[in-house]
Amino acid sequence: MSQQRSEKINNRNASVASPPRICVVGGGLSGLATAYRLHRLLPEASISIFEAAPRVGGVIHSERSKDYLVDHGADMFATNPPAAILLCKELGVVDELIEPLIEGRGAKIVNGGLLEALPEGFVLMRATQLWPMIRTPLLSIRGKLRFFMERWIPVKRNQGQDTQDESIGDFVRRRMGHEMLDRIVAPLTAGIYTADIDRLSMLATMGPIAKMEATHGSLAKATSERRKSGEDSVERNSAGARYSQFRAFPEGMRQLIESLVTNLPLHCIHTETRVTSLTRSSTSGWNLNVTTQKMERCESFDEVVLATPPRVTSDLIKNISPEAANTLADIEASSVAIVVLGVKQAQVARPANCFGFVVPLSENRKILACSFASQKFSGRAPADRILIRVFVGGAMQPELLQKSDLELSELVREELAELIGLTGEPELTKVVRWHEAMPQYHVGHLDRVKKIEGELAKVDGVTVVSNSLHGVGISPVISQADNAAKEIAARY
Ligand SMILES: Cc1cc2nc3c(=O)[nH]c(=O)nc-3n(C[C@H](O)[C@H](O)[C@H](O)COP(=O)(O)OP(=O)(O)OC[C@H]3O[C@@H](n4cnc5c(N)ncnc54)[C@H](O)[C@@H]3O)c2cc1C
Repeated sequence: MSQQRSEKINNRNASVASPPRICVVGGGLSGLATAYRLHRLLPEASISIFEAAPRVGGVIHSERSKDYLVDHGADMFATNPPAAILLCKELGVVDELIEPLIEGRGAKIVNGGLLEALPEGFVLMRATQLWPMIRTPLLSIRGKLRFFMERWIPVKRNQGQDTQDESIGDFVRRRMGHEMLDRIVAPLTAGIYTADIDRLSMLATMGPIAKMEATHGSLAKATSERRKSGEDSVERNSAGARYSQFRAFPEGMRQLIESLVTNLPLHCIHTETRVTSLTRSSTSGWNLNVTTQKMERCESFDEVVLATPPRVTSDLIKNISPEAANTLADIEASSVAIVVLGVKQAQVARPANCFGFVVPLSENRKILACSFASQKFSGRAPADRILIRVFVGGAMQPELLQKSDLELSELVREELAELIGLTGEPELTKVVRWHEAMPQYHVGHLDRVKKIEGELAKVDGVTVVSNSLHGVGISPVISQADNAAKEIAARY
């Protein structure tokens, strides 16, 4: 924290005798996790959460529909980094968590209209086993030779720095060739970030891999070193073993949101309450204008946590910290639709026998990825049924989101008819749309985050917590919320 800022805060706190009044704007995971940690660290503090929507949870929501359990957004979380699993322990729900089913673990990639297994031991952009790479039909002989040359490709050095940001596309083309990028890495990464691989930042999304190149000279040499030290034991074991690092809730990810809410002070959550402006109060602290269905009002707080999407946050801070606001507005977010289908097993002529598959752009298809939710976790569908979630749109095909729900579900059914032999009417069809919900960590993202946080450090009492800064996954979001709450608590 800057000296200027801590002096201002100390002066202000000297005049704040009563427990701090803290407002968290946005009741998604970022906001709820920050509020929960603040409540633990400052039990005396008065905490209010203002959420514009009729329910909390943001992009996390689950519902039961026709005997299916449908997650509208996230359906599982990684136990590494450990913030999410540690939070579940604290909330007393860790024993309820379920692990992915054993049978069918692994992902496939569409290759010439067929589903081919991801080579055993392949992790994001690293092959921890050689033999599966030699045998995979996903690459041509030329593509494989280019991939195996990676060990001898020189490290990119820039102006004396070991690494400088570049896109994932540039990194993989440079080190492993375009086939490896197009056929394997791009669809896998696009499946996670729904992104344009030629704009996605290597340092912000694959930092440890960039570091391996800088430290060892190549990913192949880094992998040899890690094999000797046993660091890659889980990755090498099998694609299936890696799935034991994920967890879900028996009633869907909404249970995480409910557990947080249960552990927050009573009546602190105000739904259908939209914050429209944030201004410095004439005494100390901040004034928030809020609108509800019934009225507009102004409320004052000592501390404000903005856990809203980047565009909303940018708008709220534009008069307080114009530089931070402009830089936040530069962080784009892509939109995605999930077409959810519940079908009888007998309706699928060629079951994929995997947890899901991703689709390379070169396949010229209209779907990004497909997840077999009932194959991944128990309790998602009745015994003889399959619950399928298909992702459409993202940064590369945003125009598809202009289609109606009916058009989207028909398009998905046509694609699945070709890929897995789906026939007949689904007994459940649902289309979930997430508008600008997937932040895009483009090249230079880390510099943008540094700038935003540097500028905000000059403003006492306003903290930004968001999945658009330090990681989009549930665990990184919780970790960022914990850190923000600890910084605020340290001031009181
Ligand atoms: C489709 C999808 C699938 C995903 N799958 C996974 C997964 O499987 N595993 C994983 O780890 N992660 C996954 N993620 C990522 C993870 O779920 C998100 O990064 C995380 O939940 C984001 O939480 P958030 O609180 O930062 O944002 P949000 O959930 O967007 O919350 C922001 C909240 O702010 C509210 N708000 C907006 N404006 C205002 C205002 N003016 N006043 C008051 N409130 C306002 C919104 O209504 C919203 O509730 C997925 C994300 C998506 C979109």
